[in-house]
Amino acid sequence: MKQHHCLVLKVGSSSLVSPEGEVQENFIRRISQELHALRQSGWDVIIVSSGAIAMGRILYNKPTRKSLSQKQALSAIGQRYIVNLWQNAFDAFGILTSQILLTRDDFKSRKRMLNFRNVLTELLSMGSIPIINENDALSSDEIRVGDNDTLGALVAVAAGATHYVIMSDIEGLYDKDPSRYSDGRIIPEVDSITDEIRQMAGGSGSAVGTGGMITKLSSAEIVTRAGITMYIVSHSLQHLAQRLEDQAGMGTRFKARKNISRHRHWIGFQSSPTGTLVIDDGAVKALQGHKSLLAVGIVEVSGLFKPGDTVEIRTQEGRLIAKGLSNLPSSQINLIKGKQNAQHRNILQQEVHSSVVHANNMIILEETKP
Ligand code: GLU
Repeated sequence: MKQHHCLVLKVGSSSLVSPEGEVQENFIRRISQELHALRQSGWDVIIVSSGAIAMGRILYNKPTRKSLSQKQALSAIGQRYIVNLWQNAFDAFGILTSQILLTRDDFKSRKRMLNFRNVLTELLSMGSIPIINENDALSSDEIRVGDNDTLGALVAVAAGATHYVIMSDIEGLYDKDPSRYSDGRIIPEVDSITDEIRQMAGGSGSAVGTGGMITKLSSAEIVTRAGITMYIVSHSLQHLAQRLEDQAGMGTRFKARKNISRHRHWIGFQSSPTGTLVIDDGAVKALQGHKSLLAVGIVEVSGLFKPGDTVEIRTQEGRLIAKGLSNLPSSQINLIKGKQNAQHRNILQQEVHSSVVHANNMIILEETKP
């Protein structure tokens, strides 16, 4: 049986609004045509659209300070306009769009995530195209996802999408920064995101959006780990439906990896770590062999956390090799770190879990030592 395909398309601010402040209505019309074609060949489609703040700036058209509250206000002005633009374009095909605005909290809480997933399923079965953005008007720095590359990745995972396409003014991942080197070339396919690939990403960004290549790579990490294929493509790319079907001619493709469980994915990419455990080389080996983390291998504890909180697990050189749910509070781990399990009872005056982080509640981010 043919797998049911679902695309999350992220459209960056720079594709919707030019640096001179012109609204790119032709682009929006062209994309809606492309997405209509894709839906006709059986795909589900979800759009993650940026541009609220950029559009708000154009509409308000007066100098503003760059304060958080002004950005929030501009986004509220621009967001309404952006969804109108999309709806006007999809009217040509009789397609009803819908709007969902999210913050980081919606991904952290499993209950809210379930709600989100349910409403998405319902909207798609009603034939609607959901248009999603961060709830910029109500989100302060602590609760923001912060950039729409990452937001789109989290949406793709939640939606159970098969494909995630990031469309922007960058044509793909270059082996060298194309703004500095004229011989930079697009890498057509990335199997896994190594340090070498990260170095290629440098820090390039565009004038109107907030994402750069770094956020695109961390998005690739999020989605490919959930079995989703990701592409970075130029907003001038045409015949998207055909190219997706052919799996060819699309900027840089990040190959989907083996799907991990939702539980592990949530630990690795949706929950927010509240502390760090630094572990010795023996423990690194054990974890990479899919064993649990024991107190004896822990060298350092930082942060204040409770049982059930997510913690980062790092090597002594500082490399992030895993994340997991702690069985113990940071205060207890501090007392038993480096100590064999047989000593724990005496030190803590109570019976505690034999592992600090159980292998089932852990995601390994670095499989083997480089
Ligand atoms: N959510 C922001 C907006 O709509 C865009 C964030 C981004 O560019 O990544 O203005």
